[in-house]
Amino acid sequence: MPNKRDYYEVLGVQHNSSVDEIKKAYRKLALQFHPDRNPNNKESEEKFKEATEAYEVLSDEQKRHRYDQFGHQGMRGGADYHQYQNFNDIFSQFGDIFGGSGSIFEEMFGSTQSRRPRSSGEPGSDLRIRLKLTLEEIAEGVEKKIKIKKWKPCGTCNGSGARAGSSKSACPHCNGTGEIRQVSRSMFGQFVNIAPCTYCGGTGQIIKEKCTTCQGEGREQGESTIKINVPAGVSEGQYMTLQGQGNAGRRGGYAGDVIVEFVEEKHEHFTRNGDDIIYNALVSYPEAVLGADLEIPTLTGKAKIKIDAGTMAGKMLRLKDKGIPHLNSYGRGDQLVRVQIWVPAKVNSKEKELLRELAGTEHVNPTEEEKKKNSSFGRGL
Ligand SMILES: [Zn+2]
Ligand SMILES: [Zn+2]
Repeated sequence: MPNKRDYYEVLGVQHNSSVDEIKKAYRKLALQFHPDRNPNNKESEEKFKEATEAYEVLSDEQKRHRYDQFGHQGMRGGADYHQYQNFNDIFSQFGDIFGGSGSIFEEMFGSTQSRRPRSSGEPGSDLRIRLKLTLEEIAEGVEKKIKIKKWKPCGTCNGSGARAGSSKSACPHCNGTGEIRQVSRSMFGQFVNIAPCTYCGGTGQIIKEKCTTCQGEGREQGESTIKINVPAGVSEGQYMTLQGQGNAGRRGGYAGDVIVEFVEEKHEHFTRNGDDIIYNALVSYPEAVLGADLEIPTLTGKAKIKIDAGTMAGKMLRLKDKGIPHLNSYGRGDQLVRVQIWVPAKVNSKEKELLRELAGTEHVNPTEEEKKKNSSFGRGL
């Protein structure tokens, strides 16, 4: 991902900071930028996510080590690396610093307001899918339709789990509130932990007669087609979240999300370098010496390029704006054309004779001075 800030910089800590210092720094930022404290503030939300991601890496010895070695590149595509999609998930990962299980919101802000309206059943889980994209699709942006298997609300009972006409009564375990309150202790002191009642699945109600289609679950297995609008310029390992399109919850609970991970397919002509694409143009030795006009593939068709007389192997030509569009900003990368000189493995006797004759001519062999001058040619590309 381009323009990603350094994790140490994000948290405002030193490269040799201890885990304790990192925790402290993260906690401070989390308190400052938490979305509950900054409602509808996109910038805070981004800052919060950025800090959380940095914390997740730097607080883990192995991940930190990998990050120190390879930077952001090293973090991408790792099996244990993912972006958090909802804030409850984030905090469920932080049991160790935030005092064990339970809702961090209560602890940090003493708030009793819950993020979601009450009396809904257990939320559904997220679904993860890997979406393969060609470079052409990435360059243009693409709309994909994919059929997925998932839990859907039961069509018979509309997700309630109750048989038609069946009466309901208040759950005796939570007195119909759907929540169980517990006072817990943590390193930050005592706080009230509110968890959904497991007996009634957080609905606050007990069903007398269960729906026979779903056995009271309120959901059934089904298929659904999801539409994914992939923006131009995405990279391998990036994610997109389709909110509420995952598994339906039990008994009317909120649906989870679909998390789409982008996977870039190998291209027959191009390799990608950030938003630039690289193409190797193969020319013969006479073409390199005498110059040539070539037709080469681009992401959108073909382009003509001119190889100047006297072009060295390894020379890079640049086709402006023929690369991948920058994600979330204007402009696009370039197509780089690297000149490669074709050396035949097989020549016939007549060609051999010509080449031997050529080898003895005046300008074919580099002088000592030119060898020196060109010894670093093409390096770093
Ligand atoms: Zn049902
Ligand atoms: Zn209950």
